[in-house]
Amino acid sequence: MEELEQLFTCRQCGFCCHGETTVSLDAADQQRMVDYLQLPRDEVARRYWRVSGSVVQMRIVDHHCIFYNNGCSVYYGRPWRCAQWPLVPALLLDEANYQAISESCPGITKELSYHHFCSILKRVLDRKSSREEHR
Ligand code: SF4
Ligand code: SF4
Repeated sequence: MEELEQLFTCRQCGFCCHGETTVSLDAADQQRMVDYLQLPRDEVARRYWRVSGSVVQMRIVDHHCIFYNNGCSVYYGRPWRCAQWPLVPALLLDEANYQAISESCPGITKELSYHHFCSILKRVLDRKSSREEHR
């Protein structure tokens, strides 16, 4: 089993796409979404984004991200924070973070000790950042 799968398998529950706000989109996220949707940027902003000053988020419809439709409808154009979730570096900071995130995401493996979980996650994140450095 891959190390990533030892830590997490998405259960497609959609919990992380629900709420009254979404992650924010940085400039690269915005461009990726525009490219993926193949629409003019202004139209993407008007139809899908909630812009407040310099903060760009996705619109909320019926208490979930506008792109949620029994799964992510912009999967390959989704923001990096969505792609990273739930294996975020904050999990490594302390066990309370792990407990909070783990309780909100049924996909996180609960069988490992926190120490074991962190040792695997650290390797997964190190490999990911090394791949990004070499791009
Ligand atoms: S909360 Fe976790 S298991 Fe549910 S959809 Fe989000 S990432 Fe997948
Ligand atoms: S972009 Fe996709 S993964 Fe991110 S919150 Fe919206 S529906 Fe969920």
